[in-house]
Amino acid sequence: FSAIGEEREIDRDEYTPGVEPQPTWCPGCGDFSVLKALKQALPEVGRTPEETLLCTGIGCSGKLNSYLDTYGFHTIHGRSLPVARAAKLANPDLEVIAAGGDGDGYGIGGNHFIHTARENHDMTYIVFNNEIFGLTKGQTSPTSPKGHKSKTQPSGSAKEPIKPLSMSLNAGASYVARTAAVNPNQAKEIIIEAIEHDGFAHVDFLTQCPTWNKDARQYVPYIDVNESDDYEFDKTDRVEAQEMMRETEESLYEGEVLTGRFYVDEDRPSYTEEKQAIGEMPDEPLAERYWDDEYEWE
Ligand code: SF4
Repeated sequence: FSAIGEEREIDRDEYTPGVEPQPTWCPGCGDFSVLKALKQALPEVGRTPEETLLCTGIGCSGKLNSYLDTYGFHTIHGRSLPVARAAKLANPDLEVIAAGGDGDGYGIGGNHFIHTARENHDMTYIVFNNEIFGLTKGQTSPTSPKGHKSKTQPSGSAKEPIKPLSMSLNAGASYVARTAAVNPNQAKEIIIEAIEHDGFAHVDFLTQCPTWNKDARQYVPYIDVNESDDYEFDKTDRVEAQEMMRETEESLYEGEVLTGRFYVDEDRPSYTEEKQAIGEMPDEPLAERYWDDEYEWE
C-alpha cells in the first residue's frame, strides 16, 4: 500500500479481494457489469484501493463491498449517501463512491438522493437500476413500469415510475448520466468521468435482474445519445439536458433505451468548496484534526 496521494502504478487485480468470495449474484445479473466497470475505471483514474471508499446500501448491489477491495461501509437501507457525505467531509482527499439499487436509492433513500444532489457533494453515486427490489425477492420498486405485476402489486402497479435523471438534474447534480450493463465500454468511460468529476455525479446504471424481473432489459437495443447524430444537444446547457432527459425517461418504458452523458457542469462548486469559501470548513481535511493530539478544539 502507498500513502494517500502518492502516485504509483496500480494493477487492476488490487481491487480483487485476496480471499476472493464467490459472487452470490445470480447468473446473468447486471450487477457483474458494475463491478467490472469499477475495476476497470479505478486504475485508469489513478485511485488506489486505500484512497477509495465504497459506501453501499442494502440490496443485491450492497454485496459490491465484498467483491471490490477498497475501504467499504455497508450501511443500512437507503443510507449510503449520508455516510458517504460524512466521510467526504471528514477527509476530502478520499475518493468516495456510493452505490445502491433503485429501491434503496430512489425509494427508501430518496430524500438523501435529492439533498445530496442539491448540495453538490463531491462523490460518485451509482444506482443499480433493475426496476425491482431484487434481494427481497421481486417487489415493485419506484422505477418499476406502470402495470408491472409483482407480489406487492399483483394487479399491476397503478403508479407511474419516478424519473431519476430529471430528479437529480432538477435538484442540482452537476453530472448526470445513464449507462447500461449491455454496454461495458460506455459504462467504464462514464464511471471514469463520474469519478473524475468535481461535484455530485449521478450514474443511473441499467442492470437486469433475470431472476425477479422477467421484463429485464438486456435484450433491448440501446442508443448512445452522445454518439448518435439523431440526438444533438448541448450537455452543458441545463434546458437542453432537461429536454433530452424527458425524452430518455419516457422512451425507456416504450422499448428504446437512450444512454449517455446528459448533463455536465464543471463550474459549479462542490459543497466542501462552498463551505470553505465562507469559512465554515478548514482547507485541510477535518480528519487530520482528530489525529493531531496538539490540535486545540474551540
Ligand atoms: Fe441480480 Fe436479481 Fe439475482 Fe439480485 S436477485 S443477484 S438483482 S439477478
